[in-house]
Amino acid sequence: MPTPDISEQRCDRDTALTMLARTPLGELMDRAHAARMRRWPGNTVTFVCDTNPNYTNVCVTGCRFCAFCRRPTDPDAYTLTPEQVSEKVAAAAQRGATTVLLQGGHNPKIRLADWLAYIRAIRSACPEIHIHPFSPAEYAFMAASEKRPVREILEAVFAEGVDTIPGGGAEILTERVRRRIAPHKATTAQWLEVCETAHEIGFRTTATMMFGHVESDADIVDHLLALRDLQDRTGGFTSFIAWSFKPEGSELGREVGRAAHPARYVRIVALARLVLDNFAHIQSSWFSESIPAGQLGLLAGADDFGGVLMEENVLLEAGHDRTATVEDVKTIIRRAGFTPARRDSYYRVVETF
Ligand code: SF4
Repeated sequence: MPTPDISEQRCDRDTALTMLARTPLGELMDRAHAARMRRWPGNTVTFVCDTNPNYTNVCVTGCRFCAFCRRPTDPDAYTLTPEQVSEKVAAAAQRGATTVLLQGGHNPKIRLADWLAYIRAIRSACPEIHIHPFSPAEYAFMAASEKRPVREILEAVFAEGVDTIPGGGAEILTERVRRRIAPHKATTAQWLEVCETAHEIGFRTTATMMFGHVESDADIVDHLLALRDLQDRTGGFTSFIAWSFKPEGSELGREVGRAAHPARYVRIVALARLVLDNFAHIQSSWFSESIPAGQLGLLAGADDFGGVLMEENVLLEAGHDRTATVEDVKTIIRRAGFTPARRDSYYRVVETF
């Protein structure tokens, strides 16, 4: 069955399902690249220099896919002080990081006052670095810990001069999947509510997806449509970032057994560009996938190459150790046929190479 031409019309659910399941990959990449070129003519591909320290690995939520979390009594459980976090950030800033993406486990001993102390310590040590803190799932958990509405938690962080949030913890935004992989984490409705409230307050956020485990094609499409619906209402999402589940070291990994094929990743990047017609930026991640898959994603609708991470622990715990320098990333982008440009956390180009 031929795929309907959607260049002039919004992609509906049935068309998205057809594209995900049946459209030849080359054709899908061509369509997505054409959509990217309509939105971003020219061949600039952006990246950001960031660091991703985790302030604690203690977590009581126990997602079945997680290799990072530790119980409070585990010998390698840790919680960093604000000074320790700010020292890490200062060291990364010295090596060129311009953004700190700060996330941690759901640790009931960490309260809102601790979050604010982390932000203040980083700001004091590195006034120039952009602080991009706490996922929607963490905000939902903090609201429950504090027994306060999530809006008040978000407003307290916003009052510190923070205005962007990473869109982590989305995994797959359908309850069928969340019940199987993360039954104690924020629900689909809660994740979307945090983002909607954040956008109303004035935050810009990213949106993510972790695929390649127990989800169906319909779950992936419904995830994208939920993001698109919210973006229609708020316009607060800056970008969409997908990554594949890394099976090493987790209970879910033993059940699933293997990682998604890189071709599946490229297909999802392309589908995201075509479905998320109200998202400015689609990321292709060399870091979470592989350099070739990341480069193919740039030919499948992506216009952003993610971060040159100075520190990353979550995927590292799942056996995924990958490092590259700014020079490496510039070369990887050029070899895919694009012009590398460094951006800030609002996706504004700072420097073109
Ligand atoms: S993914 Fe996050 S919330 Fe889930 S167990 Fe790991 S650290 Fe906790």
